[in-house]
Amino acid sequence: MRISLLTRLLDLISPRTCIVCGARLSPTEDIVCQSCLLHLPRTGFANSPKDNPMARLFWGLMPVEQAAAMIYHQPRSESARIIYNMKYAGRADAAIAMGRIMACEFAEKGFFDGIDVMVPVPLTESRKRKRGYNQSELIARGISEVTGIPVDTKAMERTAFSASQTSLTRWERQDNVKDSFSLNGRHIPAANRHVLIVDDVVTSGATTMACGSCLTSIEGIRLSVITLAFTKS
Ligand SMILES: [Zn+2]
Repeated sequence: MRISLLTRLLDLISPRTCIVCGARLSPTEDIVCQSCLLHLPRTGFANSPKDNPMARLFWGLMPVEQAAAMIYHQPRSESARIIYNMKYAGRADAAIAMGRIMACEFAEKGFFDGIDVMVPVPLTESRKRKRGYNQSELIARGISEVTGIPVDTKAMERTAFSASQTSLTRWERQDNVKDSFSLNGRHIPAANRHVLIVDDVVTSGATTMACGSCLTSIEGIRLSVITLAFTKS
């Protein structure tokens, strides 16, 4: 990798540190140091994208061709710092960088073959304004930098308010988000395409499913799902 003079200069003025362990990053490292990157709790789902614990969440409920998450999400673990920082600490750069890293790892396995477009799970406008960005959209941007697959942020809107999901059971969660997405009438994606839904963390799969169900009204659509993290139940 070619390191720009600007990167080297910025490193001198304000050294970048690993988002997981806090160690100083070398100019070739991005967001996570080599050692932490090596030890992230990878799921291996991209090795069997049609049958894995995340793909099984959708079986019988939504037709999904492939589903994979890069890492397991274990609250309060070291790797959870990545998720925490991108969701609650303003680290938009972490979402983009992790999208890039995941794309490099999954592309080797042919995960993106045949995908036409990515649709990130939208946030409500008020949530997006508060956070300043939609982390799922930034993960998709990072993936796009590597794969060249376009990102469609206009296809869907998150309409209804849904309460925080954290204290709900799986079934309550599905009920909670069921009607909160809609297709944007002015920007409906073309028919007969393979759409990759991009999310940050999948736990029950309810949000992803609500989003996907909305897209299934498009003629001939095929769906796959990619998320940065998957919560082990
Ligand atoms: Zn580290």
